[in-house]
Amino acid sequence: MGRYPRAGDLVRDRSAQYCRPSMVPTDPNLQRRRVASPPPTDPQTRAEALTVAAKALRAAEHVCVLTGAGVSAESGIPTFREAQTGTWAQFSPQELATPDAFAAHPTRVWQWYAARRAMVRAAQPNPAHVALVTLASRVAHCTLVTQNVDDLHERAGSRDVVRLHGSLMHARCSAGCAGSVAVSDEQRADVPTCPQCGALLRPDVVWFGETLPMPPFEAARNAAVACDVFISVGTSNIVEPAASLPWISATHGATVIVVNPTMEGQRSGPSILPIEGPAGVMLPRLIAEAFAGRRARRQAESA
Ligand SMILES: [Zn+2]
Repeated sequence: MGRYPRAGDLVRDRSAQYCRPSMVPTDPNLQRRRVASPPPTDPQTRAEALTVAAKALRAAEHVCVLTGAGVSAESGIPTFREAQTGTWAQFSPQELATPDAFAAHPTRVWQWYAARRAMVRAAQPNPAHVALVTLASRVAHCTLVTQNVDDLHERAGSRDVVRLHGSLMHARCSAGCAGSVAVSDEQRADVPTCPQCGALLRPDVVWFGETLPMPPFEAARNAAVACDVFISVGTSNIVEPAASLPWISATHGATVIVVNPTMEGQRSGPSILPIEGPAGVMLPRLIAEAFAGRRARRQAESA
């Protein structure tokens, strides 16, 4: 293997931008001293976990949030398989979301993603998305990482979202020559072509069998290492490599808050606070308990 690509590198071989998590280097400058963590406790109830979690959030300088499919599902966005209704039901995921499928049937794959994009356009951000915008205004530094490919975080008002799996709203050159371009709603039927080289543009999402793009995963991993509090919300934390992020954070001393309708399959430990329930209910409750009566940091600074 050659060296890792650095910011500003001209990457000619697109595969060089992709890597497995074990290859992702950690920025040593992010290994800084943490703010005081709450004393280790063993909350017996969800209410106790909320109280401890709220205290940790109040003390935190840097919060990292990882959102998964559960957050989108609460806005009514179906999962990949749930979306396979009507004519799409005849295809397996491997016939719709792999590089081989796109090479063999680019129009079919493109139209499937156009249909999914239309489902997302019809959905609205939910209280969990809104609560995360509030959280970002209350802490000094907030890194929002998502496994979702919709744009509901941005439409709720979040900025600089770290996208592990890409975006339904963007396409990129299938030949790997250019960055991603925004996709308009009109581009539904025919696969558009790359303005630079004429190759087909493909949905800018991570397909089955593909590794995650390295720059966002590296950003997420660095935030997991550096943050004081890590909030995992709406994900079962089973599918790697994103599943390792909360535990990387826990092993580096952060308080980890897990918000999910079920704790089945989630790891547990002294620094892990399980808050069982829907994200759209529990996140607003957590943020309210943590910051009730406090003005938004940004507003306070500009006042
Ligand atoms: Zn191109």
